[in-house]
Amino acid sequence: MARAPRLFVVSGPSGVGKGTLVSRVREIRSDLGLTVSATTRQPRPGEVDGVSYHFLTDEDFDRKVEAGEFLEWANVHGHKYGTLRSEAERNLAAGHSVILEIDVQGALNVRTVFPDAVLIFIEPPSMEVLEARLRGRGTEDEASLKLRLADAAGEMALAEKYDEHVVNDDLEASARRLCAVLDAHEMN
Ligand code: 5GP
Repeated sequence: MARAPRLFVVSGPSGVGKGTLVSRVREIRSDLGLTVSATTRQPRPGEVDGVSYHFLTDEDFDRKVEAGEFLEWANVHGHKYGTLRSEAERNLAAGHSVILEIDVQGALNVRTVFPDAVLIFIEPPSMEVLEARLRGRGTEDEASLKLRLADAAGEMALAEKYDEHVVNDDLEASARRLCAVLDAHEMN
């Protein structure tokens, strides 16, 4: 059966390991398309416009927001960042599925502008495991850890709005399950 390229949106709580999981899936599925985000921040040395990011002025960015050209956007560290609809559509038209890895709020917003998007929530095996992973990273102090765990509980409450759920226990097994979810929707 022929595959139909799809737009997948992956999110989940901080510490769930979604970055590592998506990287592994990209290794397995080298046909997945890459989207270049837009940003209003200045290029760093070595960054190339149109490759690292589409570097936009504030005015240009705002115009594109007004024109509905973003699938999602957010203010991060004082600058605007967003995924252009054209970037996703370019890949889909070329037959490549796309995975966007974005926060929960951004993910739910994507569905309002791109109803065909498939929303996938990455879950920890349990809240205890999530806490142990966050502690194990050693990157957060106790206050920040408590905040992330409280945020995680709020994010988990939104999980039911997602189309698919993948528990990230063992990396290889979870990557295979995520690949199976992509396959199932591409065959649809
Ligand atoms: P940097 O300036 O270091 O390249 O990225 C800073 C932050 O912007 C990262 O945490 C990254 O997740 C976020 N970011 C990059 N591209 C996008 C995007 O297209 N949409 C959103 N919402 N955030 C992004």
